[in-house]
Amino acid sequence: MGLEEPRENLRNGGGLSEQWAESVVRPRTTERHIQVNKRLLLGFAVSIIALILVSGLAVALGVRFEDCSGRTDPDGAAAAAAESGPRGGSPKMNANKGERTTEEEPWRSSRLPGSLRPRHYELQLLVHMDNFTFAGEVSIELECVNATRYIVLHADRLEVDRVSVTAEGGAGGRSANKQGGGAMRVNRHFAFGATQVYVVALQRELKPSRIYRLNISFEAAIEDELLGFFRSSYTLHRERRYLAVTQFSPTHARKAFPCFDEPLYKATFALTLSHDLQYTSLSNMPVESSWQSEVDGWSSSRFARTPRMSTYYLAWAVCNFTYRETHSDSGVTVRLYARPDAIASGAGDYALDVTKRMLGFYQDYFQVEYSLPKLDLLAVPKHPYAAMENWGLSVFVEQKILLDADVSSASYQMELTMVVVHEICHQWFGDLVTPAWWEDVWLKEGFAHYFEYVGADFLFPKWNMENQRFLTDVLHEVMLLDGLSSSHPISQEVEQASDIDRVFDWIAYKKGAALIRMLANVMGQPLFQKGLNDYLLSHMYSNAARDDLWTKLSQAMRSEGRDIDVGSVMDRWTLQMGYPVVTVSREPSEQLPTHAIAVTQEHFLYGQEAGGNNGRQAPAFIHSLWFVPLTVAVGTSSGVTSETLLWISNHTETHRIGRMDERSWLLGNINQTGYFRVNYDLHNWKLLIQQLHSGHQIISVGNRAGLIDDAFNLARAGYLPQSVPLQLIGYLPEETSFLPWHSASRALYQLDKLLDRTDDYSLFSDYVLKQVAARYHQMGWPTNEGNVLQTSYQTQELQRELIMLACSFGNKQCHRQAVVYISDWISSNKNRIPPNIRDIVYCTGVSLMDEDVWEFIWMKFHSSSAVSEKKVLLEALTCSDNIFLLNRLLNLSLTSDLVPQQDVIDVIIHVGRNPQGRSLAWRYFREKWEVLNARYGEALFMNSKLISGVTEFLNTERELQELKDFIQVSGVGAVPALPRAVEMVEGNVRWHRLHRRSVFQWLRKPQSA
Ligand SMILES: [Zn+2]
Repeated sequence: MGLEEPRENLRNGGGLSEQWAESVVRPRTTERHIQVNKRLLLGFAVSIIALILVSGLAVALGVRFEDCSGRTDPDGAAAAAAESGPRGGSPKMNANKGERTTEEEPWRSSRLPGSLRPRHYELQLLVHMDNFTFAGEVSIELECVNATRYIVLHADRLEVDRVSVTAEGGAGGRSANKQGGGAMRVNRHFAFGATQVYVVALQRELKPSRIYRLNISFEAAIEDELLGFFRSSYTLHRERRYLAVTQFSPTHARKAFPCFDEPLYKATFALTLSHDLQYTSLSNMPVESSWQSEVDGWSSSRFARTPRMSTYYLAWAVCNFTYRETHSDSGVTVRLYARPDAIASGAGDYALDVTKRMLGFYQDYFQVEYSLPKLDLLAVPKHPYAAMENWGLSVFVEQKILLDADVSSASYQMELTMVVVHEICHQWFGDLVTPAWWEDVWLKEGFAHYFEYVGADFLFPKWNMENQRFLTDVLHEVMLLDGLSSSHPISQEVEQASDIDRVFDWIAYKKGAALIRMLANVMGQPLFQKGLNDYLLSHMYSNAARDDLWTKLSQAMRSEGRDIDVGSVMDRWTLQMGYPVVTVSREPSEQLPTHAIAVTQEHFLYGQEAGGNNGRQAPAFIHSLWFVPLTVAVGTSSGVTSETLLWISNHTETHRIGRMDERSWLLGNINQTGYFRVNYDLHNWKLLIQQLHSGHQIISVGNRAGLIDDAFNLARAGYLPQSVPLQLIGYLPEETSFLPWHSASRALYQLDKLLDRTDDYSLFSDYVLKQVAARYHQMGWPTNEGNVLQTSYQTQELQRELIMLACSFGNKQCHRQAVVYISDWISSNKNRIPPNIRDIVYCTGVSLMDEDVWEFIWMKFHSSSAVSEKKVLLEALTCSDNIFLLNRLLNLSLTSDLVPQQDVIDVIIHVGRNPQGRSLAWRYFREKWEVLNARYGEALFMNSKLISGVTEFLNTERELQELKDFIQVSGVGAVPALPRAVEMVEGNVRWHRLHRRSVFQWLRKPQSA
């Protein structure tokens, strides 16, 4: 799945606030009365039975087909009784009604019992778009693994109508004998809500190695929330049009049909959809046959049988979209479906082309063909995630797939590209080979996230995504989170369905990607590719756990004579949380001191405090060790030696290194391919800083960005004096590359959050402006000519970064330019502001200019129809210095329907990012907690965005106490965001107590060049 990436804003370094990316709010569900057209349902049921008879013959693999209606049962009365048996009753009340129970009640377990394995599903659905209900019948071919009297499978919010079970014979295709064949007597069937399962209790045991068929008919609503089979709408020619689409990952297929809804239960699926003639339907596979009934006005499509797959990426849609089509080089049909007006305008063409090229890229890279005959991309107006990788039918929210090159910024195009590249990667990592269980969701998400960068480099080689942008957007971002003691290991145990959503977090995506990148660099590209190819081929159409991957990668290494046990190396990184800081220093005790270095490793934590008396018990993992692949090089002003790879596995080690003299410095983690921080002795830091000032190009772009990020974070956590990072960025006026600037600005916004309410703040902002001024004036402002697809991405991004820094830290010329743009827009009513910097200009204008500008932007927000533009306008409103206006915005957001519901949380968070609005947002959040909680319900708990967003800037003892009081009084309970928020704020308070003074002391000293 693609999560929403945090967007960077003024006074925000894309920090901790949005790490839980499920940004769309799910309203609470309400019970819905289901009305299904009975006449149609009856006709449908008859046709289903007929279809099952026909298709059963085709698919039963030689197994004799038994009539599932129960008429061949010698005890027909029993089957009939079972069909009208108790539904949804309490299992306790009904327990042991005629069952000789030897099994415990298997439906109480949070995981399916494993006695039965689904082999094939025949699923028929009758979709009523007029009243948003559907009726279905599923026929599941089951193989019995262990004898059991119970069939336990998932079902949630389904109204089950009839249930029957028939025995079909042996698993090897043997036909059923007299005793084993025919209808099975069902004692009772019931839903068990606590574990979202449906239970069919049988009179007799199902026998191992035999095949059974379970038939269930059911009804349900097409929900108005974004889960299961849900509906959505859009406007075309002033008319409201509806569509219905699925989102099953991770645990919502059970809301659309009874199924074994765990990734391990792979089976084949044959789907038939019936709906009103005016709609078309899509699913994972192409349509095999279709027919229409003019009398009823119904149209039906039967889709080809899928390969073996898990339930969570099964998908279907009923809509009246149009499409554009292309073909990959290997003949796969690729279509992009969207609203007819979007298709007509060509807004889907860019993503279609990217998809076609990426299919070719992945086939070459993995040496494994794409598995299905077609791949459809579906652009929907509303979706809970950026996108979902359903095999053959991937679904995207419109903003992540439709591109209007004339009004889109470069970052919008980049984001969209990467979402598409991500989902296409999942067709292999996720769909073809599926993680065995959700604890290893990073096995698919880490790969898809890593390949976003590799794939983007294939599409746009000049973007340098994998060796540059990856550092700031993935590595630096996740190390912020993973440096907290409230972090968690990347492989997390989960059992309950309600916990599974939580594994889709930035640790899984970004740490997963960072670890994979580290491994790829250690192995080298050819061996890494060879290992992945072997892994995919060995587990295709099946499941894999992390050990399966490690085995294949180890084998690849061994084939080249490199005997590294990848599993034992990587277990250290996946089973323990956090990461190490590696300190590299010259070894003084050696006889030849210039030839040896001492290397130590320890768990990096922001909670470090000199003397260790921070009152917190050292957690058990604090003594953890990692197998660290440390690359080291020695440099002087004339060049850098080639790197040496050292495996560090102890707390302290000594290693020999190439020749060094007094002027040579050490550099660790070359190009920042490793997932750890590097610290040095102070003398080495001094030499590195001198090198940056005298000739920064000697050190690679990636390492320049890495040194900046490491220095700021080491200082923040107390490993390094505060003056080091400030001295280090003194070289920035000479820096012409985007990445080090981006790394610095992220770190500076973090520091800004700590300092911007202090008396001496101007010392800090003046220092930042001093670094920015020369390069900002040299780069200037963008012109409106040329679109984002043509101009240089790196140049545009650097220009944008400098304008953002200049305007947010108070450069007068930058402010004037923003005011000129806004004034021109108001007087001419023509928006001539280049799309790439509109957010900066709007925000600066609103913060500097009078209330009329705020009203103007508010008006434009209402009249704008472009989704991306609307969002930028709304966020600009939160930039005002006027508390009255901010308060008004907060109240309007919450109490009127002027602001879309899913944007209200963003409004509160953005008010909190505005230094003038911080106290207001924090107070407002606490005051309105009950209202927010009532409206967003479960979503607020699932999604810690709001909590992090309104607390990350708190940094006084009083605010910390307010946070603790709030947690106690509100009883918000075990939301993972809360311990993290408390830890963050404690860290902020501690930083002020220990380090603020030394920052200002250094800033006050006159600085030499
Ligand atoms: Zn994904």
